[in-house]
Amino acid sequence: ALHNNLVELRGNIRVHCRIRPLLPFDTESGDLAFQNRLTSLSEKVVHSTDDETVLVKCSRPGHPLFNKTFQFERVYNPLESQKIVFGDVCPLLTSLLDGYNVCIMTYGQTGSGKSYTMLGPHSESDPISSSEADQEMGIIPRAAGELFRLLSENQTVNPRVEVSVVEIYNNELFDLLAKDSSGIFGVKRDVITTKEGKSNVPLLTYELVESPAEFMRLINKSLQLRVKHPTLVHADSSRSHLVVTITLTISVPFDSFADQQSSQNLCKEILCITPQKVMKGEKPSFFSRGPSPAPIPLDLTEQQKQVQTKLQLVDLAGSECVGMSGVTGTGLRETSFINRSLAALADVLGALSEHRGHIPYRNSKLTHLLQDSIGGDAKLLVMLCVSPCQKYLAETLQSLGFGSRAR
Ligand code: ADP
Repeated sequence: ALHNNLVELRGNIRVHCRIRPLLPFDTESGDLAFQNRLTSLSEKVVHSTDDETVLVKCSRPGHPLFNKTFQFERVYNPLESQKIVFGDVCPLLTSLLDGYNVCIMTYGQTGSGKSYTMLGPHSESDPISSSEADQEMGIIPRAAGELFRLLSENQTVNPRVEVSVVEIYNNELFDLLAKDSSGIFGVKRDVITTKEGKSNVPLLTYELVESPAEFMRLINKSLQLRVKHPTLVHADSSRSHLVVTITLTISVPFDSFADQQSSQNLCKEILCITPQKVMKGEKPSFFSRGPSPAPIPLDLTEQQKQVQTKLQLVDLAGSECVGMSGVTGTGLRETSFINRSLAALADVLGALSEHRGHIPYRNSKLTHLLQDSIGGDAKLLVMLCVSPCQKYLAETLQSLGFGSRAR
């Protein structure tokens, strides 16, 4: 509860930063000139001094980066585990059940640990190995487990959990759960704004899931299919954004919903109203954190509303190309699309943090798709992933700058 209060106090956007450990590939290269500079390049220059501060250490006094610090809501040092990271993410799942839309995204250059943080260790051909130790699991599998645990603990009325998996490549949206007429998964879709001002993807496939295992089977299947797609196969996964959306639909008795809505300012979609017989003593657990609703009398036929919230989990394309020059051909096209979508994301986050009236969601498919889970009363967690070494300092500073501006 304390953590949730903090989220409340600090506004809807939180930025965390995870510094990954030094890895074997940080010091691997056949290039002799590079080898000579290796010691300095693999030198650790990005540190956490406490759990809210990143220190970038440049050894030259007088240099603009000499002991430069960045503050975030939470900074993880390289030794902090997946479990610890998820411990800080976990309250957001409670928020989802409390009626908020939630978005969790990983931002950083390729190789900085975004997919590791989101999914866990994996390869393209084997997205998540079955032999993988539980402690290595990332946010997505843990969130699935925790969500179903919370639902069973709260004995929520008729919860429905549905999942969609979308890949955004060159500003085009691909539905990874749909097959086209030739049997290929990954059908192109569009994103629109509904009359109610919500973002919607017409025809997007949502699959009903009833357990964490079913959920992960779906995620793995879509990640495996992705690499066989005629367009996507040429795109390294670092060139595209992956968006997993979980929609949670819960039925709550009419009266309690109205009371709670006024007290908590939860303005969610009311999908339909169905008459429902409510048993004595049965309390709506959906708003378990609010004041207790009045006891519901036996044999009273109540109206029931369905309330829908969504959790969007986003593994963004590598941010290293932002400002990168000397790229041509396909690379250039990809780079400019990634640049534009990440710039559009930065613009949206900037507009949100300054409480501007107009938020430019529609400038990219990415921000348009995420609109409902990053704006309004939604809760957004940006997880910056950075490498500790000198070699990637320029990219690391770019990521830290992005995160600082988003707060
Ligand atoms: P990205 O998705 O940003 O391109 P990855 O998540 O694929 O990067 O990480 C690159 C490599 O580093 C992978 O082999 C991954 O398992 C490893 N890695 C990243 N972060 C960590 C970490 N915190 N602990 C251990 N290994 C990590």
